[in-house]
Amino acid sequence: MKARTRRLNALIERVLNDLESYEGSMIADLRRLWREYLVGHRYRILLALTVTAVWSVFPFITAMLTRFLVDQVLLVDAGYDPSMFEEQFPLFIRYAVILFGVWGFFVLANWTRNWLILDTGQRVIYQLRKQLHEKLQDLHVGYFETHETGKIVSRVLDDVKVIQNWTTTYFLDFSANVLRLIIGLGLIFFINWKLSLLIVVVLPFYAYIYLRMRPNIRRNSIAIRRMNSNMYALSAERIAGVAVVKAFTQEKHEIRSFAKRMNNYVRLALQAILYAQQLTLIAGMITAVVSGAVIYLGVTFVRVGTMSFGDVMAFIQIMPNLFVHVNAVTRYMTQIEAVFVVIRRVFYLLDEFEDVPPGKISLDGMTGKIEFDHVTFRYPGQEKPAIEDVSFHIDPGEKIALMGPSGAGKSTIFQLLCRFYDPQEGVIRIGGVDLVDADTGSIRHHVRMVQQEPVVFSGTIAENIAYGDLDATPAQIMTATTQAELHDFVMSLPVKYETEVGRNGIALSGGQKQRLALSTALLTQPEVLLLDDTTSALDADTERRIRETLDRVLEGRTSIIITQRIATARNCDRILVFENGKLTQEGTHDELRKRDGFYRRILEQQESI
Ligand code: ATP
Repeated sequence: MKARTRRLNALIERVLNDLESYEGSMIADLRRLWREYLVGHRYRILLALTVTAVWSVFPFITAMLTRFLVDQVLLVDAGYDPSMFEEQFPLFIRYAVILFGVWGFFVLANWTRNWLILDTGQRVIYQLRKQLHEKLQDLHVGYFETHETGKIVSRVLDDVKVIQNWTTTYFLDFSANVLRLIIGLGLIFFINWKLSLLIVVVLPFYAYIYLRMRPNIRRNSIAIRRMNSNMYALSAERIAGVAVVKAFTQEKHEIRSFAKRMNNYVRLALQAILYAQQLTLIAGMITAVVSGAVIYLGVTFVRVGTMSFGDVMAFIQIMPNLFVHVNAVTRYMTQIEAVFVVIRRVFYLLDEFEDVPPGKISLDGMTGKIEFDHVTFRYPGQEKPAIEDVSFHIDPGEKIALMGPSGAGKSTIFQLLCRFYDPQEGVIRIGGVDLVDADTGSIRHHVRMVQQEPVVFSGTIAENIAYGDLDATPAQIMTATTQAELHDFVMSLPVKYETEVGRNGIALSGGQKQRLALSTALLTQPEVLLLDDTTSALDADTERRIRETLDRVLEGRTSIIITQRIATARNCDRILVFENGKLTQEGTHDELRKRDGFYRRILEQQESI
């Protein structure tokens, strides 16, 4: 048993240490939750709370009606006999009518309460998810590189659901339990304060046991939440990377690793159930003992005439519920801190800084002239610059190859040209406009990037290409596909541009995907095209054909191609070589092949193959 507890504690410790912590003040979070999400629904919530308060009284009314039935209708104290009941019959009818009326009223109250709260819950969830989704669109790109997709999805779906439940259903349930506890205690004191003292004496004992267990319960429930989100992240990542899993025949390893995580999760979940059961058991035992004592003392009080039978009946009816309410209140209290962790996690995401602030100047009508003037850039949170003191000029229509070892800063140049980030030092200009002053939408309209691994969304070919400009006409789409030499292929398909691609459609080859991505990029006829190693994943023949296409497409446009291939680089007007974040070589193929350095080394390597 000890070893099991030790292992479980070690697991909780690992889960809690392993992940980001979310510090903050509960009061501040609560204020923000109210201000930003709930205040708009305040009347509904207030109404729901009022109805809940009314509804909470129901069991006590029935208890008091039982007291009335025993003492006033059945006259148990006076020694019940059937002839007396004849006389009491009208009173009995009154009792039945009241009970029926009360019951009907409370069914209605409960229905109203549920409707109000479920309706509010749906509104809160809609608002939060919408806001989170908008935030995801506005976030800077770096966020997605440093956060797992699964965890982000878990924020939007899972965490929001927890917040919805806690701000509505659970909150009302918690309030109802607190209220019932207060009313119940008040009533039993009203009926007989001496007998009530018995309960008041044992409640602190129960609270003591709960407080002793609380730290463990709390840690356990926080660990469960975190593990849940972790598993979500891992599943999403491995499903997305299923090809890699299969390529390295790691299916068994994945199954084992998931089973292990699941097993740990189940251990924690079972422990949570065990804690809840222990509390219920203790409450049950206390209730049993106290009930016995209450019946014994109650009957004694009846004998000496200080209490009626109806009083004892009402007491017995109310008392066990008090422990149920104490149990519910403590259960909510144990979870509340874990819930605040969830709320904070969502707030952390909402507070992440967004894309760069948009400037006002449009790049419409500008040339594709590019200038880097002593630019130094560090990714957020990084000490080492990704590029350092980089200066170069590219004339409109020039075709430039970016070369250099892995991690040299080539892709960073693209990220800066699309203005996904602003440099900390130096200036970047396109068409003479400092990018910091330029409108980001306009930059991304005139500077288009084709990624190394093009992303194809579910939808038709036309929809995928139109993603480059939702206002594009079919004629513009066709011009783009013709330029990218995809048009003939599309026309050979049975439903042509309406052919479904992506997850639900036909599978495109690597070359076709690149042509599709190129068409999307060309849709706005951008002045500047950025191509990231677009041919590296292709076979020699497709690569040659894509390169020929590119030669035609790039004619007259400013273009930068990240490449590792001399064959591509020699076709360019100039080559820029980056090493370790610095621009180390610049020149034409003929110039660079004569100089010592990275370019010549690569040239020799590739020629020797
Ligand atoms: P490759 O040829 O392998 O794609 P690269 O020359 O394009 O490499 P970059 O991707 O520009 O290199 O990276 C330059 C440096 O910046 C590297 O040290 C890299 O680790 C770092 N870096 C890149 N992206 C990020 C990021 N989002 N956050 C932090 N550091 C990053």
